[in-house]
Amino acid sequence: MKFAGLAAVQSPPLVDPFGRAITYLRVSVTDRCDFRCVYCMSEHMTFLPKADILTLEELDRLCSAFIERGVRKLRLTGGEPLVRRGIMSLFTSLSRHLATGALDELTVTTNGSQLEKQAAGLAACGVKRINVSLDTLDPEKFRAITRWGELDQVLRGIAAAQRADLAIKINTVALKDVNEDELPRMLDWAHGQGMDLTLIEVMPLGDVGEMRLDQYLPLSLVRARLAERFTLDEIDYRTGGPARYVRVAETGGRLGFITPLTHNFCESCNRVRVTCTGTLFMCLGQEDAADLRAPLRASEADDALHAAIDEAISRKPKGHDFVIDRRHKAPSLGRHMSVTGG
Ligand code: SAM
Ligand code: SF4
Repeated sequence: MKFAGLAAVQSPPLVDPFGRAITYLRVSVTDRCDFRCVYCMSEHMTFLPKADILTLEELDRLCSAFIERGVRKLRLTGGEPLVRRGIMSLFTSLSRHLATGALDELTVTTNGSQLEKQAAGLAACGVKRINVSLDTLDPEKFRAITRWGELDQVLRGIAAAQRADLAIKINTVALKDVNEDELPRMLDWAHGQGMDLTLIEVMPLGDVGEMRLDQYLPLSLVRARLAERFTLDEIDYRTGGPARYVRVAETGGRLGFITPLTHNFCESCNRVRVTCTGTLFMCLGQEDAADLRAPLRASEADDALHAAIDEAISRKPKGHDFVIDRRHKAPSLGRHMSVTGG
């Protein structure tokens, strides 16, 4: 596979109308997945035709254009990024930006199903930290939540990642009546193995055929309950994402909370997202988007691509306004998390 290098002339860094520098890019490399998590996908999803999806070469060009404009942290996500055929060649090619120092961090969010095979390869590409999504340690619950997943396979993947010396953060969606009782155990387990744990509030994205109000569990409540069993000390640790962290005195580990519904984290937002079709979302919670695939495919030079990126960033909104309440039962955004990649 041949990949283009950086243009000789450096373009100006990306800064939005509110003075926020765009330094973090999340790219969804596929809309497909080997799981069907109940809060993320419906059981019968219609996936995009191949021609609509950016090729690995196009993904490389796109990521490299953003890196040229000041992006320092790149996360590949999905769908399930590690099920995309040839994905390791994209990691390999993108790792050149780590070697030059243009990129600080190349990372991935994964459901863990392919890690047993790919963890060592990721580490060889300079990936140092990964996020693994895991909502329960109970095999039956795991099957119920993911519909198609096998807990054992994910646990073997996590073990392989640990052997490869990848730092792991476990992402757990807090689900009312499903895993809420298990969260203290998840915390003990993750911290016991030297992994961070971040709890995520369910977000109203996409129609997944289940009622959002049934799944929604405010993290303010989860935190208050955890605080009865653990000492949670506020810390200043930030990873460039929206999570707020505490140190758990009893375990010594870090616990993060991502609370898009009960806490507004927009003011420090440094990120944008691109879907696997090359659609740039300037905000996870807004519909406004820009097509980068057309300029990518229009010419081999990146001028039109940079112009489209500039135009889009000039429209990055100040913030979002998710709503889940009894008057708003419909998802406040039509697209699924597997489209924008979380
Ligand atoms: N397949 C990979 C995985 O599961 O980690 C990457 C993509 S997945 C869409 C990214 C993250 O979004 C996962 O941690 C998942 O739990 C979370 N997620 C998906 N749908 C969500 C929703 N409606 N609300 C909150 N988090 C969600
Ligand atoms: Fe797949 Fe991740 Fe969505 Fe689960 S959360 S269905 S693993 S993309």
